[in-house]
Amino acid sequence: MKKILVTGCLGQIGSEITMKLRNTYGADNVIATDIRKPENNDVVKSGPFEIVDVTDGKKFGEIASKYKADTIIHLAALLSAVAEAKPVLAWNINMGGLFNALEVARELKCSFFTPSSIGAFGPSTPKDKTPQDTIQRPQTMYGVTKVSGELLCDYYFKRFGVDTRGVRFPGLISYKTLPGGGTTDYAVDIYYKALQDKKYASFIKKGTYMDMMYIPDALDAIVKLMEADPSKLKHRNAFNITAMSFAPEHVADAIKKYIPEFEMTYDVDPVRQAIADSWPNSIDDTAAREEWGFKPKYDLDLMTKDMLEKLKVKLNIK
Ligand code: NAD
Repeated sequence: MKKILVTGCLGQIGSEITMKLRNTYGADNVIATDIRKPENNDVVKSGPFEIVDVTDGKKFGEIASKYKADTIIHLAALLSAVAEAKPVLAWNINMGGLFNALEVARELKCSFFTPSSIGAFGPSTPKDKTPQDTIQRPQTMYGVTKVSGELLCDYYFKRFGVDTRGVRFPGLISYKTLPGGGTTDYAVDIYYKALQDKKYASFIKKGTYMDMMYIPDALDAIVKLMEADPSKLKHRNAFNITAMSFAPEHVADAIKKYIPEFEMTYDVDPVRQAIADSWPNSIDDTAAREEWGFKPKYDLDLMTKDMLEKLKVKLNIK
């Protein structure tokens, strides 16, 4: 990775991976792009930034050529809950944008990373220790675009030799940028509310297990997979990766160790609950561990301690 173009760079993952890549590979070697350009934003100010709507393949190609990109980290997408509310737009952005990104990668011979998701699984997938290679019949527009995306990335590797790589991210928890409308967002919201109000109403039901990961492990995974020896990769796209599996009450218990008066109630959102119910309880990430040495550092307790410390500073809470 020498000249890296990031799409969707202002989102939950993009805002952090762009800064990490700039620190590692040099600020001028990471071209940040998004559909919007906020004032006074670290990503916008700290290196090259361009407006790129990923559904506009021509502009996408022009910007990638202008900077002589050799790597594309493609993150622009609509997340699960938003995609269910706007399925047509989700198809256009998630599939149209991915197709454009892969075409640019093919033409310019770029290496390519894009994330799939635990949303690529569905109700007929085995729920516990979900295998790497298994049944994928999701019933959400997000899931449909994620499975299709995995297949399209495999196709571009096999048919055109594009160096495509990817992971199935679980729910990601972070404190810098708010999540963009996913089913696992409760596991971020809860930390804000615990500090601000000492109480939180979870939109996901008690007992609903989903895989999760703290953002530093997700960022390390992107870099590690992109730096991995290709001869060791049997799967390439859509590696299962996870750091922990928990239900809402477990985060509440972890928070109570630091904020004993914290109280959790439930105000379940039927749309996001239905999505959560169709996803695995826990996934098996043996292939990622064996093929490129994936090894997360944070469990629920370590993450909770760090999230509360960092958020206290961000929210200026004494
Ligand atoms: P996000 O919603 O936080 O950010 C997406 C970014 O894409 C936003 O900055 C938005 O402005 C931009 N965008 C939207 N439409 C665009 C367009 N047409 N052209 C260019 N940019 C556009 O998303 P995220 O959480 O950072 O997710 C990034 C990727 O990771 C997505 O593919 C998502 O499916 C995947 N993923 C995320 C999670 C998670 O928990 N965050 C979990 C699994 C997979």
